[in-house]
Amino acid sequence: MSDPIRNLEQLVRYHQDRYYNHEPEISDAEFDALWDRLRELDPDNSLFSVVGPDSSDRFPKREHRIPMNSQDKAADPEAFLKWAAKVRHPFYLAQFKMDGAGIELQYEEGRFRYGVTRGDGKVGDDITANVSRMKGVPQNIATNFTGGIRGEVLMSRSVHREHYADKANCRNAANGVMKRKDGVGSDLLEVLCYDAVHDEDDLYFVDEPAKLEWLAQQGFGVVSHRRCETAEEVVALRDEVAAARPELDYDIDGLVVKGPEIDPDDMKRARPERQIAFKFTLEEAITELREVLWSISGHLYTPIGVTDPVRLAGTTVKRANLVNTRAIAEMGLKIGSMVRITKRGEIIPKIESVVTTPEGAVDIEAPDVCETCGTDLIDEGTRLFCPNMQCPKREHYRIRKWIEVLDIKDFGPVLVQKLFESGRVRTIADLYTLTEDDIVGFDRMGEGIARRALRGLQSVKEISLARFIAGFNIEGIGELIGEKAISAGFDSLEAIRDAEPSDMAARTDGIGETTAAALIEGVRTLYGEMTAVLSCGQITIGRTIASRELSGRSFCFTGALHSMKRSEAEALVQAHGGTARGSVGEGLSFLVTNDPEGNSSKLQKARALGIAIITETQFRAMIPNEPAGAG
Ligand SMILES: [Zn+2]
Repeated sequence: MSDPIRNLEQLVRYHQDRYYNHEPEISDAEFDALWDRLRELDPDNSLFSVVGPDSSDRFPKREHRIPMNSQDKAADPEAFLKWAAKVRHPFYLAQFKMDGAGIELQYEEGRFRYGVTRGDGKVGDDITANVSRMKGVPQNIATNFTGGIRGEVLMSRSVHREHYADKANCRNAANGVMKRKDGVGSDLLEVLCYDAVHDEDDLYFVDEPAKLEWLAQQGFGVVSHRRCETAEEVVALRDEVAAARPELDYDIDGLVVKGPEIDPDDMKRARPERQIAFKFTLEEAITELREVLWSISGHLYTPIGVTDPVRLAGTTVKRANLVNTRAIAEMGLKIGSMVRITKRGEIIPKIESVVTTPEGAVDIEAPDVCETCGTDLIDEGTRLFCPNMQCPKREHYRIRKWIEVLDIKDFGPVLVQKLFESGRVRTIADLYTLTEDDIVGFDRMGEGIARRALRGLQSVKEISLARFIAGFNIEGIGELIGEKAISAGFDSLEAIRDAEPSDMAARTDGIGETTAAALIEGVRTLYGEMTAVLSCGQITIGRTIASRELSGRSFCFTGALHSMKRSEAEALVQAHGGTARGSVGEGLSFLVTNDPEGNSSKLQKARALGIAIITETQFRAMIPNEPAGAG
């Protein structure tokens, strides 16, 4: 059984991370939909208690004046006309729905004060300095307006082509550039606005058309818009704009349609009902399915469709996501079927449906035994996997996961693979019996590598129980789940092993019976391996519940520390839920040094990237109840 909430939570976390720390793969609207769905299914999910999904520590946070809500969507004329019949606006205002990054401009007494990113919709990053350099943002306006202006940060296609061709698309590029600490490139961005709300006066604007006119008069960039007398006219406009889309200099993904009247109460709804995003039809293509490959990741087998090459949204597509065996069965998909492939935003293309299946097409056969250990695979429809928890494929993956979860430095996947394939390391416990000579024995592994790898391994000495369990890669059991069980009193391996799923679920907030069963079953099966790791004597489980004060933050140390060794400082970071890094790069939260005025390359790089530089004393101050022995 899979747990839909857990899957959704993982998906949200994944896309959050892509959005804030890499490049987003889905549109804001798609992300909103995931976020809303999770809130609906699991309102108490811990994701909602963190301040914003924004994990970037690079900018101060600021609250929005206008909440950034999500929008109702219509993907086809039928859905749109149905909405129009319900809201009965006297006429329609259709605005281009720009595919950029949301921004709120805050004005006080007619002066531009702050530019705030979308963040979680309530609180975002204060990127005022960058926004000041963008086109379409007047520093001062003629009226003494105090309130919020809503817009979209955009990069034009021509700027993208000329300067940022390495970025996947305009939106990703705009999002990256606007969050640069050094502001480089912000002057190439433009803000187009579509909404404004006065702090005190709900009636500041007579109606929506007057608002747009006011924005233009004050010198703001304003999104293209048109008045349509009937809903049918809006449908025709959408077709017209869709056809003109390739020639536009900006990416747009539909129209935002509203009526003329301003309805402040509706705007405050999580999903305003008086306006709708009328999106373009998805980019799609039709091609033939040639073959199905099974991609194996750990113990999971995932189908990938190989198709005749076809042009789709500007790229040539040869592979498409097939999701799972249930989707294959439901579509009646066969090798030789003509299929409809879509690309939503920038997600991997997906096979949506079967157009026709010619006679003689061949059934798709899923593997039925694990190619590694020969165990019969379990096909749950939504996932196909090897159930053997001691399957070598899983063990190999588990060792890699252990290194990743414990944030062990200098112990790379290549080394793990060599050790695993040679048979020297088959379980996590085997890692802790390694000597330098073992490692040096493998081809091209020099003494330096061996020494560093072992030092990395040995530097993590004490971890929380939740992290220890997460390191064993039990399906669906991350650190967070472990922590929940631990805080409910299941605070030792034995307590978890001997628990009953129904009892654990009843006593633990945020853990259902399925998850409880997975955790308990995992600890039961792996209990031997777990105790074997502990009896190596090199790693212990901390007495306290995991400490999370430094969660989401990363630290790099440079130069000599006064009160502890660097390895001890790194262990301290990890013990409090943070990440220790060996080098300075994008996304690092803090560089710790006792010589903040120095000129080492790490310091120079940190300054260039705008990373916070703190002293050892400041670092220690961030850690409450510092464990004895660290100082
Ligand atoms: Zn297997």
